Amino acid sequence: MSASTSREGAWAAIWRHASLPIEPAAPVTSTRRPRIGRSPGDALVRSASSGNSIQNVEPSPGRLAHADPAAELPVIAVALDARLRAQSVRGERWIPAAEFFVSLFTTALEPDEMLVEVALPALPARTGTAFLEAARRHGDYAMLGAAAVVTLDAAGRCERARLVFLNAGEGPVDARQAAGQLAGQALTAEALAAAAGHAAEHEISPLGGVHASVDYQRHLARVLGRRALSLAADRARSAGH
Ligand SMILES: Cc1cc2nc3c(=O)[nH]c(=O)nc-3n(C[C@H](O)[C@H](O)[C@H](O)COP(=O)(O)OP(=O)(O)OC[C@H]3O[C@@H](n4cnc5c(N)ncnc54)[C@H](O)[C@@H]3O)c2cc1C
Repeated sequence: MSASTSREGAWAAIWRHASLPIEPAAPVTSTRRPRIGRSPGDALVRSASSGNSIQNVEPSPGRLAHADPAAELPVIAVALDARLRAQSVRGERWIPAAEFFVSLFTTALEPDEMLVEVALPALPARTGTAFLEAARRHGDYAMLGAAAVVTLDAAGRCERARLVFLNAGEGPVDARQAAGQLAGQALTAEALAAAAGHAAEHEISPLGGVHASVDYQRHLARVLGRRALSLAADRARSAGH
């Protein structure tokens, strides 16, 4: 895997948003496009979202509502504990990201509901994040990707970790056991490798395909999971209080 095939989005910028409003989709008679809010980190949010020249530069609601298991934004929404606001003529409701993505290209939205807003909780102190993915060519859907969120306690041990994968199952795969085994631990290289290894062996269910076999996707989960956790831990250490 060369550097050019592994891209890290400027994901950290998204974390700083207390909320990321998406405008209600424009009526079909309008040419106005949905867009994210105009907060200071937007330029970075866009760069995180536009690693692929095919994709909209701005993170459109369609990239979440489409629920593609290989898409980045659903994984980011789950890792961040985002809440998504659905609206219809019947009213509105907030759906946690973990419940929004039901399965392959399927969300919890009812047929008459539109996704109109995404809210991201503020990150706790001493938290670091990282997002890594690997594709054979720049611009392709990734063969696999990993998002990590690490919060340290005052003593520098892991208070909470999160490890979520893309293209590792029928939707975002939240490796809760792997992340859970890091809680209370010193984040040594061995501990991070063990957690990523557990996720790769026991928690993901990659579908395989012409670009990557299931075995290779598990290998990528092991490597990218470990690297993402390590990077997030480093960033948490330098994030301070
Ligand atoms: C060659 C290629 C490579 C790609 N690589 C990637 C990649 O690496 N990563 C990635 O994430 N994506 C990738 N994509 C997907 C693409 O970039 C879009 O993100 C995806 O097709 C969604 O398109 P859209 O954002 O225009 O949404 P749309 O096409 O407008 O919508 C997608 C679906 O969501 C529904 N929808 C739209 N808005 C709402 C709403 N507000 N409420 C409810 N439902 C809604 C639509 O009805 C539709 O069913 C790739 C696409 C191609 C063709």
